[in-house]
Amino acid sequence: MTDIARNIQEIRERICRAALSSNRPAEAVTLLAITKTIPVETIDEAIAAGLSQFGENRVQEAEPKIVHFQATPDLKWHLVGHLQSNKAALAARLFDFVHSVDSIRIAEKLHQAAQEMGKVLPILLQIKLEEEETKSGAHSEEIRSIIASMAEFSALRLNGLMTIPPYSEDPEEARPYFARLRKLSELLESEQAGCLGQRHLSMGMSNDFEVAIQEGATIVRVGTALFGNRSSGWSGSPI
Ligand SMILES: *Cc1c(COP(=O)(O)O)cnc(C)c1O
Repeated sequence: MTDIARNIQEIRERICRAALSSNRPAEAVTLLAITKTIPVETIDEAIAAGLSQFGENRVQEAEPKIVHFQATPDLKWHLVGHLQSNKAALAARLFDFVHSVDSIRIAEKLHQAAQEMGKVLPILLQIKLEEEETKSGAHSEEIRSIIASMAEFSALRLNGLMTIPPYSEDPEEARPYFARLRKLSELLESEQAGCLGQRHLSMGMSNDFEVAIQEGATIVRVGTALFGNRSSGWSGSPI
C-alpha cells in the first residue's frame, strides 16, 4: 500500500467517524482531493486508491492536468479557487463543478461559456462570512441578488454554498462559520422554495473537516492531509 493509499484510508475513516458522531451517514460526505501543486504521478496513485473527485484552485495550473486525465473515465474536476472573469470560459470548458462563484458577473460569464458548449455546469456560491476576511466570496447580503439572477442563467445549476473560514490552528474556531453557512443554506432554501438544488455545503479542509462534517458539510476539500505539506516537498510551485 502506498503512502497516498494509506492517507486516503485514514481520511475516509475519520470522515466516517465524524459523520457517525453527528448521526449522519458517511455516504453523505464526498471527499474532494485538492491537488493544487500535486503532480500527475501522485494523482495517479490517488486514482488507483479509489479517488475520483479532484479539486484545483487555479484554472491555468489545472488545465494540463485535466487534459492529461481526459481519457481516464469517471473523474470529476472541481474548481475551488477564486475565478477571474477572463478565465471563466476556460473554466467552464475544463471543470465539472465550480465552487467559487461569488458575483453575478462571474456567473454570467460561466453561463455564456457553458451555454455555447451546450453544457450545464453545476456551481456553488462562495460565501464570505467574515467582514475583515481578505478571502474572496460574496457577502450574505449579495447572495440574494446573485440567486435571483440565476433564473436567467439556464446553463448553470445552483447546487449549494461554499465557504472558507478564517484560518485558525484550532478547528473549533471554524465551527461557528460552518454552522452559519448551514443556517444560511437552510434560510435560503426556505426563501427560494428549493431553488438551491441539491443543497451542497462545501466546507472543511485538512485541519477542520471533522468539525465541518459535524456541522453539515456534504463536500470536504482535503489537500495536505492526503498529499503532504505543499510547502515542504512534492513538486510544483508554492501557492
Ligand atoms: C488548498 C485548498 C484546500 C485544501 O487545503 P488543505 O488545508 O491542504 O486541506 C481547500 N479549499 C481550497 C479553496 C483550497 O484552495
